[in-house]
Amino acid sequence: MSTEAEERMAIRIDGREVAEQILANVASRVDSRRRRGLPPPHLAVVLVGHDQASETYVRGKRRDAERVGIASSDHRLPETATTAEVVELVARLNHDPEVSGVLVQQPLPLQVEVAAVVEAVDPAKDVDGFHPLNAGRLLLGQPGILPCTPAGILRMLDHYGVVLEGRRAVVLGRSNIVGKPTAVLLLRRHATVTVCHTRTRGLAEVCREAEILVAAAGRRHLVRPDWIRPGAAVIDVGVNRGPDGRLSGDVDPEAARVAGWLSPVPGGVGPVTRAMLMANTLQAEEERRP
Ligand code: NAD
Repeated sequence: MSTEAEERMAIRIDGREVAEQILANVASRVDSRRRRGLPPPHLAVVLVGHDQASETYVRGKRRDAERVGIASSDHRLPETATTAEVVELVARLNHDPEVSGVLVQQPLPLQVEVAAVVEAVDPAKDVDGFHPLNAGRLLLGQPGILPCTPAGILRMLDHYGVVLEGRRAVVLGRSNIVGKPTAVLLLRRHATVTVCHTRTRGLAEVCREAEILVAAAGRRHLVRPDWIRPGAAVIDVGVNRGPDGRLSGDVDPEAARVAGWLSPVPGGVGPVTRAMLMANTLQAEEERRP
C-alpha cells in the first residue's frame, strides 16, 4: 500500500520511454523503405575542432542512427577552420545525393560565423530545424522540419495525455533553439503562452500561473517547488553540470511534490531530443524520395 506522501508525487515523464517509441517507429519506417528497395536515410554530421562534449554527442548520434537503420558519416574540420571552409563542406554535403540530412555540431570555434553556417544548410536537409526558412515555416504554421528539442517536448506532453488547448503555458527561456520555438509550438496547439527571460519581473508569480511549465533557462534548480501551480505539467529542459560532474535540471526535484507531471534530468528531454533527430533525418529522406 502506498503512503499519503507517495500519492502526492508527480507522474514522472519518462523521456527514455518516449524516445523508445519514437525510435521504434523510425526503425519500422526505415525497414519498410528497405523492403521497397530504397537506400537507408543518411545523416551527415559536421564536427569542427575537438570539443569533448561534442565528441560524446556525435558518438551518441552515430549509435542511435545504427540502431534504427540510418546510415551516418562524420566530416571533420580542424579547430582553425574558417567560416568559408565550413560553408564549403556544408555545400558539398547539400549536393551529395547520398545525404538526407546535414547537422553541424555546435558549439563552433569562435572565428566561425554560426549564422552563415546555419544558413548554408539546404533547408530540405536541415535536420536540426535551425535554418531561417524552417524557423519561418514554424512561425507561420507551415509544414517543415521542427527543431528537435521543442518538437520532443510536445511529444512528451502528448505521450502523457497533457491537454494543451486553452491551457496557460509558461516557457522560461527565449533562445532560438529551445524557448522561442517551444512557445510557438504551444501556441500552434492553442495554449495561451507566456515567455519569460532574464528581464521578466515577478518570475515566480508568472510561473505559478502555468498549467504547463517548460523550464529552459540553464540555471540549476532555478524553479522552486513554490513556483509550481499544484497539478501543473512541468518539463525540465535544463542541463547543468555541477562541480562533481553530476547533471541537474532547472527545476528543484522537490517540485515533484506539487506538480502533476515532471520530467527528470537526466532521462527526460535529452533522450527525446536525440530520438527526434532520427525522426527528422527520416522525414527529410521521405520528403526527398517518398
Ligand atoms: P540559452 O542560454 O541560449 O537561453 C537561456 C534562456 O533562459 C535565455 O533566454 C535567458 O533569458 C533565460 N534565462 C536565463 N537565466 C534566467 C533567469 N535567472 N531568469 C529568467 N530567465 C533566465 O540556453 P538554451 O540553449 O535555450 O538552453 C537552455 C537549457 O536547456 C540549457 O541548460 C541547455 O543545456 C539545455 N538544453 C537541453 C537540451 C536537451 O536535449 N536536453 C537541448 C537544448 C538545451
